[in-house]
Amino acid sequence: AIDGAFLRRWLDAATQAVDREADHLTELDSPIGDADHGANMRRGFLAARTAVEQEPPDTPGAVLVAVGRQLISTVGGASGPLYGTLLRRAGKELGDEPVVTAARLRDALRAGVDGVAQLGGAAPGDKTMLDALLPALDALTGALDAGGSTAQALAAAATAADEGAEATTPLRARKGRASYLGERSVGHRDPGATSAALLVTALADTAR
Ligand code: ADP
Ligand code: MG
Ligand code: MG
Repeated sequence: AIDGAFLRRWLDAATQAVDREADHLTELDSPIGDADHGANMRRGFLAARTAVEQEPPDTPGAVLVAVGRQLISTVGGASGPLYGTLLRRAGKELGDEPVVTAARLRDALRAGVDGVAQLGGAAPGDKTMLDALLPALDALTGALDAGGSTAQALAAAATAADEGAEATTPLRARKGRASYLGERSVGHRDPGATSAALLVTALADTAR
């Protein structure tokens, strides 16, 4: 069941993954950005985990809203408001239901990702976090429609997110700091798509 405790376990797994991969994320942000993506994500997720541990929200929606709020208030870079919008919007979609199905979570995340596209104005293929998030949502939908379990569907989403992040390497950036480099952004993997894949993988690991 996807309840508040499930989302709190996800937050723990996501924070550990972000903390472990922070140096790598910052390395990816060096050639095509300002070398702070790992630090931004680490600061945001550590703050979110601390806030949630101090006052644990008991519904899945409330956990997502709390994490989103912390990311918005503690991350200075573009990724803070974007991930913050994703999680806050998804959390609001879930309302105060104590337990939700995987399909409900998928719909809520879809609304959150739509919010990222609205706020940032990026389209698929622009070499952003959307290039991991959109394939993940499609894979999640496909697996659930095919009758897969929550764990199977989230595992499919994680694989698609990884592949989507990998596929940003040959793309030319059209949004965010990397877009300032034009053609020179080609040949580098997008840091935000890479962190997005970490967050989706943490969700899959939580359901295993
Ligand atoms: P900043 O670029 O402000 O230093 P970060 O380094 O934390 O912020 O995050 C950079 C990542 O944010 C990029 O790799 C990209 O995936 C994502 N990003 C930047 N701008 C946009 C946008 N307009 N839409 C979607 N994602 C974006
Ligand atoms: Mg940066
Ligand atoms: Mg920055």
